Amino acid sequence: MRSMLEVLRRIVEEVNGAPDLDSALQLIVSQVKRAVKADVCSVYLTDHQQRRHVLRATHGLRQEAVGKVSLPLHRGLVGLVYERAEPINVDDAPSHPRYLFVTETGEVPYHGFLGVPVIQNRKVLGVLVVRQRKPRMFEDNEVTFLFTLAAQLAGAITHAQANGELDAMGAPGEALKRYLEGRASATGVAVGRVVVTYQMDDLAAVPERRCSDPKLEIAQFRDAVSRVEESLRRLQSRLGEVLPTEEKALFDALLLMLGSDSLVTQTIARIEQGEWVQSALHHTIEEHARVFDKMEDVYLRERASDIRDLGRRILMRLQSDTPREVEYPEQTILVGVEVSGVELMEVPRERLAGVVAAKGSSASHVAILARAMGVPAVMGVTDLPVARMEGREVVVDGYHGRVYLSPTPAVRQEYQRMLEEDRQLSTEMEALRGSATETTDGVCVSLYLNTGLVSELGSIADYEASGVGLYRTELPFMVSDRFPGETAQFENYRQVLERFAPRPVTLRTLDIGGDKPLPYFPFEESNPFLGWRGVRISLDHPEIFLTQIRAMLRAAIGLDNMQIMLPMISSVNEVDELLLMIQRAHDELLEEGHPVAMPKIGVMVEVPAAVYLVAELARRVDFISVGTNDLTQYLLAVDRNNSRVADLYNELHPAVLRALVQIVREAERFNCPVSVCGEMAGNPMASVLLLGMGIEALSMSAGSLLKIKWVVQSFSRAQTRQLLQAALRMENAEQVRPLLERALEDVGLGGLLRPGK
Ligand code: PEP
Ligand code: MG
Repeated sequence: MRSMLEVLRRIVEEVNGAPDLDSALQLIVSQVKRAVKADVCSVYLTDHQQRRHVLRATHGLRQEAVGKVSLPLHRGLVGLVYERAEPINVDDAPSHPRYLFVTETGEVPYHGFLGVPVIQNRKVLGVLVVRQRKPRMFEDNEVTFLFTLAAQLAGAITHAQANGELDAMGAPGEALKRYLEGRASATGVAVGRVVVTYQMDDLAAVPERRCSDPKLEIAQFRDAVSRVEESLRRLQSRLGEVLPTEEKALFDALLLMLGSDSLVTQTIARIEQGEWVQSALHHTIEEHARVFDKMEDVYLRERASDIRDLGRRILMRLQSDTPREVEYPEQTILVGVEVSGVELMEVPRERLAGVVAAKGSSASHVAILARAMGVPAVMGVTDLPVARMEGREVVVDGYHGRVYLSPTPAVRQEYQRMLEEDRQLSTEMEALRGSATETTDGVCVSLYLNTGLVSELGSIADYEASGVGLYRTELPFMVSDRFPGETAQFENYRQVLERFAPRPVTLRTLDIGGDKPLPYFPFEESNPFLGWRGVRISLDHPEIFLTQIRAMLRAAIGLDNMQIMLPMISSVNEVDELLLMIQRAHDELLEEGHPVAMPKIGVMVEVPAAVYLVAELARRVDFISVGTNDLTQYLLAVDRNNSRVADLYNELHPAVLRALVQIVREAERFNCPVSVCGEMAGNPMASVLLLGMGIEALSMSAGSLLKIKWVVQSFSRAQTRQLLQAALRMENAEQVRPLLERALEDVGLGGLLRPGK
């Protein structure tokens, strides 16, 4: 007898592999009915517009009822499951006060009833029901079984909605509601075509495409297979002596599979039918692996992963032999399960129109990069059907965090209109260029740029900025294929310093780790954001740090507009040690005959520990810059890169606001200047509060500069102080937001809050 868990695993796998929603539903109703030995299993999907639950699949009731029979939103036991959003389990349904007898389904009165809600993002999408003719109370493990499947179903339904499969259910105008939801991570909208980006060894992420030259691709495939075969044989003979028999058998099995006709011929047949080599391989491997997935025997089942491993090897070989020649359409929307900063930068700048990823959130570094480049981004779209998106037209709504696949003409038109309104807003803001950044009562505020790529410079924003408040030096490290040496770094920093001189440029020392890995410096951690990051790496690798400091000091010779900033400080010892190292690099360079000067040195306050050390830090350094991106994640214990908790990440949270007030107050006691360089500084609403705190230096992405200038020019110091006082009395971020929205509306800046006006 197979365990419930085993059955569950199998159904989940099959549902995942189902080609469309109806097949997935059919699978679920028949398998569930069998697994719990019920007389009926049905799925009702909720049509919120029509306020009904529509019978969408059943095993046990009349098939003709599917799509026709529906139940009012709040009636019957199904309505009760919907209302309560929790399971209802009753052994004698007809005696329940909410029981509703429906004749059209060919029902005789059923007694046992278990209904569980299908929930996605806190919203009930439908109800999964099992019924028994005789009275029956379903057991706890049966309830959890249905629950787990309902969660699976939720994903399939959201996919189907986005794909338009649920058209039949929608009323006119519903098209506008058919989208995938993620996190709004960089504002703006885009209409463009998808280019999927994926890891070299990720078979499941290979996008579906047509094959352009079957002969060539078949030859490439055969070649890849024989090379993998060769390398396996080499490995086998090298390890021959030391390998235990079982492992040797594994090699034999892999080689046998490679040599087997079915794997090779099936892939080739797929290519001949028009699939491109990579997805032909993916589908063949999956087909074979699934056969093993279904085996009763644990050992044989494990072979499925060997087959997938073989597939990965061939895929990697295919890709490294024929590096992907990506053709980027004019309006490229880069899509991936995970999109890295490097992948983003690979797209020619003028063609990049938007970014969509299944993982990550608005605080991820790739989102920050997208904002810097001024392209809309939606992160954390958990149900993104990446493999089926290549080449499709999509609309990316970076204001609301929505992605429309193959949009209808009405959707496209609506977004074209928004694009136009965005353009108008930008034109309006253009008028602010060259004007002073002063509050209505004459307080001067300095707006600096956050940047990290020399190639990004040269935009008009450069002339508007008072300098660079945060130069993320890890970005040039990320686009390199090894640690850049002193000379390469020198040239990079020199370019930025020269471009902005005499205005100040703050170079931040290497801040890798967390979600910013270097491909050539890999390490694995289970909690990367609490791990080896920022100055922690610099202290453990003084050679990397010293090389960087030398390059920085030399780059500033004769310009004297450079400041150095240290990230991720959590104790004063770190600062003392790093200051000593900077002094050492400075002295050595002088000895070598370079006329370097000691720059101003500052620290980032972005770890809660540093908030309580502001006095000690202020005594040691020349300035403090608050990194609200990290400070928010650490204060609220919300991983900035995790889409599941992205709703909890909020820089308007009272804890963040109070921490900021405390930092400013402490720093003032020591006359230590404070700026903010986290994304909060570029957020029109939050910037009002920062001004109210008395912060007069804000550093932000180029795209935010004119918006924040507009905010500064629209308020008096007194007004911002009052708003801050009101915000500090509030208990949660949900109260702070409307306060600020109203304040912006009142001074005529509503346009900054939403697309268009
Ligand atoms: C921050 O943490 O606020 C910050 C500016 O640094 P980064 O986003 O690069 O971690
Ligand atoms: Mg940071």
